[in-house]
Amino acid sequence: MKIINDNNCSWINDLSQRNSFQSLSKNLDSEWLIIGAGYTGLSAARKLGELYSNQKILIVDAQLAGEGASSRNSGYLVDSTLNDGFTSNKELENYKKKADIYKLGIEAVKKFIKEYQVDCEWNECGKYFASSKIEDKKILENFSKTLSKLDFKHSLMFNNDLTKRLGTSFYEVALYTKGGILLHPGKLVRAMIDTLPKNVDLFENSFLQNWKKVNDIILCNFQNGSIRTKKIIFATNGFLRSLGIKTNYNFPLTLTASMTRPLTKKEYENIGEPNEWGVLPIKPMGATIRLTKNKRILIRNTAEVRNPFKMSKLDLNKRSIKQKIGIKKRFPQLPDDIIQSTWSGIVSRSRNSSQIFEKIDNNIFVAGCYNGSGIGVGTLFGEQIAIKASNEETKEIKTIESRNRPTWLPPQPFLDLGVKARVLYERLRAKSEI
Ligand SMILES: Cc1cc2nc3c(=O)[nH]c(=O)nc-3n(C[C@H](O)[C@H](O)[C@H](O)COP(=O)(O)OP(=O)(O)OC[C@H]3O[C@@H](n4cnc5c(N)ncnc54)[C@H](O)[C@@H]3O)c2cc1C
Repeated sequence: MKIINDNNCSWINDLSQRNSFQSLSKNLDSEWLIIGAGYTGLSAARKLGELYSNQKILIVDAQLAGEGASSRNSGYLVDSTLNDGFTSNKELENYKKKADIYKLGIEAVKKFIKEYQVDCEWNECGKYFASSKIEDKKILENFSKTLSKLDFKHSLMFNNDLTKRLGTSFYEVALYTKGGILLHPGKLVRAMIDTLPKNVDLFENSFLQNWKKVNDIILCNFQNGSIRTKKIIFATNGFLRSLGIKTNYNFPLTLTASMTRPLTKKEYENIGEPNEWGVLPIKPMGATIRLTKNKRILIRNTAEVRNPFKMSKLDLNKRSIKQKIGIKKRFPQLPDDIIQSTWSGIVSRSRNSSQIFEKIDNNIFVAGCYNGSGIGVGTLFGEQIAIKASNEETKEIKTIESRNRPTWLPPQPFLDLGVKARVLYERLRAKSEI
């Protein structure tokens, strides 16, 4: 088995090509091994490298490091996600726990980029939860009550204001939240690779085929070698299930996104020269859409259950057409052929949108399943799972561990059937917002 990714993602193609990397080609022994080199695995490696400066830390990825979902996302570092108001104090408490984790995630990324002077097009411009249906005002008013109780700065906005700010008259109503950052996800993860401590050895294009625990040693088999390790951290997110990890608590979803070329001066004038912005949908299957710093439009409007290991060019093209329509609906004045790239990426979901952060057996740890908030939460969980695996406690770990745990999922084939039915229902509900 292999993960076969398209090579279309603009966030990756913006960066210079990496030309020095190694694959695993022999058998090794180690104290520490991390599987998966996205935000989570790289952050765990950075932390372990600091904590154990005299030891070798190994990190292995099936693809080039960072080129999974960590480079393929929409670049929203979120402080809040939409919740349609609460009916009880208990629910408010749970929302606060989630928001506390988001806050720690933002702090973790902020600390990283400050310490290493990372340019990742960081823009604290907030975000909009928007809808083209004025009836959705009610959802946003409920959400506003929740945000007020938790002291999040926000405001309701309507078509006129939104048209000026976004350059499209598509949206009738939105809730603007001041918190939250837009960034270039590829630049962020590339910086995590470039700044790995010297005692961290990164192996790429090395797919973990299987693993088992024998007494106190974990034996991992790759195509061209194996690693016997004393401690292991699994950071494979959407691929946790395929490695037999927490199989009844998470499942992969495949998303696709498209990005236009930069708008010309004239095109940009035609949409009213707005500043960079990001819109999230009110209904889960609606489109995420943003105007980037260099005046490109990014849209993500598909999420589906399918084989996470690859998507054919034909399937990707079909999704690209949906994204072209999504852009055209919002910006009819722009030409038809401005999409520069379309790509897919895998996320991990749980039933109740909660994350995985756990010791699953002696010396075996796992962090992942962030739904749509892995930039901040992945960075945080990576650092903190490394600390937890070192038997240390932090206030961050306490906050993380006080969250609700992912709830149980039914076995196959019921799981796929259930998720497919739910996705279909959500897609119909969000029809106008795609
Ligand atoms: C289109 C899209 C839009 C998104 N938008 C946002 C957003 O705006 N904001 C946000 O916060 N999040 C967003 N996300 C989610 C976010 O990208 C993820 O939550 C985040 O990347 C998770 O990081 P990670 O390091 O845990 O996992 P990943 O980045 O997925 O890294 C896991 C790594 O594990 C490797 N791996 C898997 N199996 C094996 C194996 N058997 N052997 C070796 N290596 C293996 C993979 O190759 C991969 O590199 C989006 C995702 C997508 C796809």
